[in-house]
Amino acid sequence: MDLLNTLVDKGLRRELPSREEALAVLATSDDDLLDVVAAAGKVRRHWFGRRVKLNYLVNLKSGLCPEDCSYCSQRLGSTTGILKYTWLKPDEASKAAAAGLAGGAKRVCLVASGRGPTDRDVDRVAGTIKAIKEQNEGVEVCACLGLLSDGQAERLREAGADAYNHNLNTSEGTYGEITTTHTYADRVDTVNKAHAAGLSACSGLIAGMGESDEDLVDVVYSLRELDPDSVPVNFLIPVEGTPLAKEWNLTPQRCLRILAMVRFVCPDVEVRIAGGREVHLRTMQPLALHLANSIFLGDYLTTEGQAGRADLEMIADAGFEVEDTGQVTLPEHRANAGGGGCGSHAEAGCGSHESAGCGSPESAGVCGSAPAASTAPAGEPRTDLVAVRRRGAGTDLAPNA
Ligand code: SF4
Repeated sequence: MDLLNTLVDKGLRRELPSREEALAVLATSDDDLLDVVAAAGKVRRHWFGRRVKLNYLVNLKSGLCPEDCSYCSQRLGSTTGILKYTWLKPDEASKAAAAGLAGGAKRVCLVASGRGPTDRDVDRVAGTIKAIKEQNEGVEVCACLGLLSDGQAERLREAGADAYNHNLNTSEGTYGEITTTHTYADRVDTVNKAHAAGLSACSGLIAGMGESDEDLVDVVYSLRELDPDSVPVNFLIPVEGTPLAKEWNLTPQRCLRILAMVRFVCPDVEVRIAGGREVHLRTMQPLALHLANSIFLGDYLTTEGQAGRADLEMIADAGFEVEDTGQVTLPEHRANAGGGGCGSHAEAGCGSHESAGCGSPESAGVCGSAPAASTAPAGEPRTDLVAVRRRGAGTDLAPNA
């Protein structure tokens, strides 16, 4: 297919595909799906080989959020029955992180619900980062604490944080339909603050909230422009008790097309499959490893993932290998940029308080205004695959790692 040959060539050169090409990936037929995966897989292997980076989530503070993100079980008024607790102590967080690292993770993502941290919260998280770094040599730490005020990104960087996550989630045009208590511009501002402080920026999206194909392409192009080093792709988990609980409109095939499109638009970026992997990709998860080079190990913030051991077996069975702490995740041109950025703006190259992080996916929407050929068929509700997290951080039970 000419489209796929063109996209592979562009991906290997870090050249931005046209919007029409990105939309065409989302509109491919099931007959062409394996060809799409194979083509995007070439780009993935060119920049990341067969390595899979494992990340481990520690929810430092769960629920009790005053914001109203529609997809989130931690939002104001949520009736999801999730674990609710306030800040874990540094030792508790470090213990949870150690379980993930022992399971093979190389990055720990420290997440807290809420609009954004106070300066006192930042001090508290700084102590936690210090404890984790002292007890786990070589670990990467990413913070995900919501909207940042001036100076907070610098403070986190000084404390030893390597990265900061804050997702755009959806297109600028539809953001107001998902959340009313903060804006898309607020989110962009926080990603820029992380960049400016020398943190590796992590910013991604949630698919399945009722967006059109155009919306998906919009948010991925915006992410390329923002130039994060990692892009988590969440697939909305429609959790009962959230406004998007009835929005089951993803299929495994749709998820694979979305991941392929993200890989073509952001070829040299760490593309991470985040929340919703087990629920929406289901038995197709191994195919998605040909597109993404990073996943979360074990559980998510408020929902349970498959057993950590099953994640490791899947990676090995699919012919991939877990990336170890001695290996540099990013391609050389990015790794050397220091603190993020593929540095590709100039060459038309490359370029969530959620991500299964704060506001990790919970619900979904209408498949909207996409062209007829690209409208995803509705997925069947799989509430049997959704389990609220009852183990790990904030409980007395062992974490899943
Ligand atoms: S996504 Fe974050 S800010 Fe939004 S409701 Fe959930 S915890 Fe609060």
